[in-house]
Amino acid sequence: MNSALSLFQKLEKVLLLETSLGYTDEAVIGGLDSFVAHWRDEAQQATYEPAIDQFISETRALLETYSGESVSRRREMIEDVFGHWERLEPHVSSHGSEASSPETVQPTKAAPPPSRTSLCSPVQELHGVSDNYARRLERLGVGTIQDLLYLFPHRYDDFSALKTIDKLEYDAEVTIIGTVRETKERVSKRGQNIVTSTISDGTGTVQATWFNQPYLTRRLKPGKQIVISGKVDQYSGRATFSSPTWEPLDEELIHTARVVPVYPLTRGITARWLRRLMKRTTDYWSLRLPDHLPVAIREERDLIDLESAIRQIHFPDDWSALEQARRRLAFDELLMIQLGVLGQRHEWQERSGQAVQIDSSLLRTFIESLPFALTPAQERALSEILGDLQKSKPMGRLLQGDVGSGKTVVAAAAMLVTAASGMQAVLMAPTEILAEQHYSSLEKLWDELWLPGLTKLSSQLRLLTGSLKRSEKAKIYEEISSGQARIILGTHALIQEGLSYDNLGLAVIDEQHRFGVTQRASLRQKGHNPHVLVMSATPIPRTLALTLYGDLDISTIDELPPGRKEIVTRWMKPIERERAYAFLRARVLESQQAFIICPLIEESDKIEAKAAVEEHRRLQEEVFPDLRLGLLHGRMTTDDKEAVMRDLYAGELDILVCTPVVEVGIDVPNATVMLIEEADRFGLAQLHQFRGRVGRGEQQSYCLLLADSPSDAGIQRLAIIEGTQDGFKLADEDLAIRGPGEFFGTRQSGLPGLRLARLSDVRVLEEARAVAREIWAEDPELKLPQNRLLSSRVDEFWQRGKGDLS
Ligand code: ADP
Ligand code: MG
Repeated sequence: MNSALSLFQKLEKVLLLETSLGYTDEAVIGGLDSFVAHWRDEAQQATYEPAIDQFISETRALLETYSGESVSRRREMIEDVFGHWERLEPHVSSHGSEASSPETVQPTKAAPPPSRTSLCSPVQELHGVSDNYARRLERLGVGTIQDLLYLFPHRYDDFSALKTIDKLEYDAEVTIIGTVRETKERVSKRGQNIVTSTISDGTGTVQATWFNQPYLTRRLKPGKQIVISGKVDQYSGRATFSSPTWEPLDEELIHTARVVPVYPLTRGITARWLRRLMKRTTDYWSLRLPDHLPVAIREERDLIDLESAIRQIHFPDDWSALEQARRRLAFDELLMIQLGVLGQRHEWQERSGQAVQIDSSLLRTFIESLPFALTPAQERALSEILGDLQKSKPMGRLLQGDVGSGKTVVAAAAMLVTAASGMQAVLMAPTEILAEQHYSSLEKLWDELWLPGLTKLSSQLRLLTGSLKRSEKAKIYEEISSGQARIILGTHALIQEGLSYDNLGLAVIDEQHRFGVTQRASLRQKGHNPHVLVMSATPIPRTLALTLYGDLDISTIDELPPGRKEIVTRWMKPIERERAYAFLRARVLESQQAFIICPLIEESDKIEAKAAVEEHRRLQEEVFPDLRLGLLHGRMTTDDKEAVMRDLYAGELDILVCTPVVEVGIDVPNATVMLIEEADRFGLAQLHQFRGRVGRGEQQSYCLLLADSPSDAGIQRLAIIEGTQDGFKLADEDLAIRGPGEFFGTRQSGLPGLRLARLSDVRVLEEARAVAREIWAEDPELKLPQNRLLSSRVDEFWQRGKGDLS
């Protein structure tokens, strides 16, 4: 057995033991520092290649002061040792590209990947990734080797500008290559260890300083050639570097002298460690990442191959290579979305559904009973929907229309004819309040309607929400499965397991701006492959709609009912708050009603509710003691919420104070003022939703926006919402603000799995859509050999997307 091997195993054992003991310095008698001193002496009796020698002295230097350090510092020290260890890998492993010497050391940590290791293996199988590190990586969403390849930098440092020392300019980000002349170590008054190196390159000299990294003294020996990247500082008139990134010139450069990736980090993971791991992982594994995109498509669309894309997104040769990589990977994401939705559509439309027999006289009675005439846009949408319902191929349609455009009546007509033909219809809303509101407005709309067989339509209406009592729920479940209840409104409770329908013919999803492919799928699985109608008030550009809702046909209600007045929108300065209150009061004195939206609090519902309670108290006691104020927040019971809503409708409340949670769907025609606190914190779409709560009646309505100290982006949004009423225009502006250059996070975009794709990237969007259609037209089930890989990637993507959604 190799003596070096046992030496390394000894060190590893001790360090791992110390780690599992919680860095208490109890792993070896006498303490870790004296152990390491002995260990170094023992190690130095043999000769190794320089890298290993270097590692041995580094380890000694790193752990020298171990016993005197805090637990957290000790942990860092040990991790640093493992970090350095891992750098040895090319020198010590037998599978690497470098030749291995007979004296090769193979610490168990750095064993070559066993042959069963694959892209799906957990990251622990990579060299240098302990269980501890794996847990930290998990916080970044990384479980497998493949996940790691897809953990993209969130930005890049451009250290590609190579300068000579005489050309250094203050504040510039640069890279220099030089030779260490001298390295000094001292301890500052405050006990900080400071290492300063003097580096020269033939045109001049410059100093670089590092703090609390004493081991650098040993690494930055005179004569060593190094590369330094960082920002040029100035110290008593001379150019210096303070804590720059550096690495030896004779190694492959990954932290300096290039476009350097900057990754999201988490506690216990350093930028250097992750970058190194990433470099080794991409070098070895990107080659083994099969490209799911058929060559023909890559060529036709001028997309680079997956291996290069993954390499370049992490360690780009330059900015244009990075852009190429981003385009390829963004294309993939959008293609996955497209293929997923198209696949779903195919799967569900292949099975046939049930045609609805339309009772036109009942329909006419209903429409004539309305207090208004349908707008031409409503009529058009309704006839498209009725056309779909009469086919045995199940409908999949998006009903798109700005807030207040009258989608509910259209959906009501569709539900009505479905119920009349003997099937069931459900309407699923995103919140209980909204479900309740739909319930009461349908109850009213259908008050005088009788189904064939002399049943009153409204008697078949049920409301099913999560907060019903167990016994009530059991009763409704029974009525639903027996078919006694034919029109059911509710929340997610409608797709709970254990609930079965007698004969579900139509599912309407009032989705607002929530993305719900998964929910759509689960509704479809309930029973008889129902027709599906999705209502959305989020105006999104058409291309995007086609991508996100590629499984749906689209009907758009593009006009508001006549007589609607523009909502006067004003952004007010903090000093105008009193004026805003006075304005509210004046409207209330004219018997109108108002809303006040409390600031958004992201931490939790509970804190938000508490803040709303306090705001309500303040307003009631100090500002409007003579008016009737109500309060609505997400933590109230359904009964309490209902009571408040009832009071509001009945005109027994003047002002409703609410949390942003309850933004959607409230419809009180007599409400004319919407006051939004800290309006700059909301997105344009959300502000537009709030504003849509007023302006539903005859009177002039107002939206007042308050913002204490808005950011630049906040100011921009406030100005836009002030000047634009049109939801579609707002959506475009929204995209323009976020604009190119910003990587969309999943949560921000509300879409699963989009890491690199920018929604503003219309060209890539369109290309992905076109390709998806081509592939799909030829091979809808992705069964052809060239599409098989693609098919499994699509599944994976959607699996991951589900995780992202939760
Ligand atoms: P949304 O599209 O936001 O869901 P609603 O269906 O809630 O809009 O309709 C908003 C308001 O407009 C409701 O009070 C509704 O009764 C009324 N409404 C709907 N259609 C018309 C119409 N054609 N003419 C006048 N008022 C209408
Ligand atoms: Mg609505």
